[in-house]
Amino acid sequence: MQRIQTLKNFYETMNATIHTRKQIVSRYLQNEPIPSVLIEDLNKTLNELQDLPQKGNKHIVTLSQEKPIELDLNYEIQELKKDIFFLEHTEEEFYNYLTELHPDFDSQLNRGLSLFKKERFNNFISDRDGTVNNYCARYASSVQSAYNAIFLSRFALSKTKNTVILTSAPLMNIGLVDISVSPENTMIFAGSKGREYIHPNGDKRTFPIEKNKQKLLDFFNQEIQALLEEPANEKYALIGSGLQYKFGQTTIARQDICATIPEEESLLFLYQIQKIVHSLDPENQNFRIEDTGLDIEVILTIGKGDSEGLKDFDKGDGIQFLNRDIPLNVAEGPCLICGDTNSDIPMVTKAQALRKDSATIFVTMNDELRDKVNASDPNAFFVSSPDILVCLLNALAKS
Ligand SMILES: [Mg+2]
Repeated sequence: MQRIQTLKNFYETMNATIHTRKQIVSRYLQNEPIPSVLIEDLNKTLNELQDLPQKGNKHIVTLSQEKPIELDLNYEIQELKKDIFFLEHTEEEFYNYLTELHPDFDSQLNRGLSLFKKERFNNFISDRDGTVNNYCARYASSVQSAYNAIFLSRFALSKTKNTVILTSAPLMNIGLVDISVSPENTMIFAGSKGREYIHPNGDKRTFPIEKNKQKLLDFFNQEIQALLEEPANEKYALIGSGLQYKFGQTTIARQDICATIPEEESLLFLYQIQKIVHSLDPENQNFRIEDTGLDIEVILTIGKGDSEGLKDFDKGDGIQFLNRDIPLNVAEGPCLICGDTNSDIPMVTKAQALRKDSATIFVTMNDELRDKVNASDPNAFFVSSPDILVCLLNALAKS
C-alpha cells in the first residue's frame, strides 16, 4: 500500500478515486452489483488520509525538500465516509446518517418534496460548489462523491430535459469535467461562468472573445506567471483556489479559508495584481477585478462601452449564451435554478426574464442573500446544505 507523503502523492491518491467512483456510479445506476474491491479502494484511500500526521485538525504532507504543508482534508474525508456508508447501507439508512449531520434534514426535505413533487423541468441549471457539491479547500481535490453523482444523475435523467452544471471554475485542465464522476451525457458541463462548455454532441464550444481583449489577457497571464515565480509569491499558486486560467478570466488566490497568509501580505499581493491590470488597461475598458477576500478574479469585460455599457461576464450572460448556442429553449418550459452565492443571482434573474414560472432553490442560511434572491424570485425555496439539496433532488426523481 502506497503511503502519502508529498502533496503530489495526495493529489494522485485523490485522482485515483475518480476512476473508482465512475465505475461505482455507472453500475449503481444500472442496478448492477458493486464489486467489493471498489468499496475496498475507497476504504484504503480513507485510511491513507486519516493516517497522515496531524496538527490540530489539519493533516500534514511535504511540499518539496521536506517543507511541510498543512491541509484541511475535511471534504475529502467526509465525502469518502459518506460514499462508503452509502454503499454498505440502504438509501433510507443513508438519509438517517445525513440527518445526524444536518438536524433540519427531514423538515427541509419534506417541504421541498411538497413544493416540487410531480414537477418536470425543461431545464435544470445549477452552480456546483456550495450548491450541489460540498465545499472543498482545494479545487483540484474536490472529486465528486459517488452518492452525489448518483442522486444528481437520477434527477437529470427522470425529471429534466437538460441539466447544466454552470460553474465559475475552469471547464478543463483541472476543471469541472475532470472532477465529475457522473456518466457521460447525463448533464452538460459549463465552466468559466458559462463562457466555455461541452455541447451534447461532444464539441467544446466557447463564447467569442474579441482578439485584442484575448491578447491583453494573455499578457496579463504572462505577468502573473512571472510574479508567481518569485520565491515570496510561490505560495499563492498552492493555497485555496490557486492559479486558474479560465476562459475570459484568470483567478488567483490571495488567501485560503484557514487564513494561511498574514492579511497585510495578502493585501500587498492584491495591490501588485491591481498594478499589473492598471498598466495593461489604464482606461479601465477591458478588465474588471473582483476581490472576494480569498480570490482575486481578473475578468474581461463584455460590451463595447457604448450605450450598453461595459460589464463583466456573469452567470446570467452564461445562461443567455447557452440558451442560444445549445439551444436550451428556456422560454419553452419550466426551469429550475440552483445556487448558493451572490454570483448565482444573475442566473435567477435571467431565468425569470425568460420564463416567469422558473423555480429557484438556494443553499443559504444568510438572510441578506435570501432577501436578494427573493427580490428576483419571491417564491424561491431555501435549504441549508448541499447534502439536503441533492437528497431532495433524489427524492423528487423517485416521486
Ligand atoms: Mg457556489
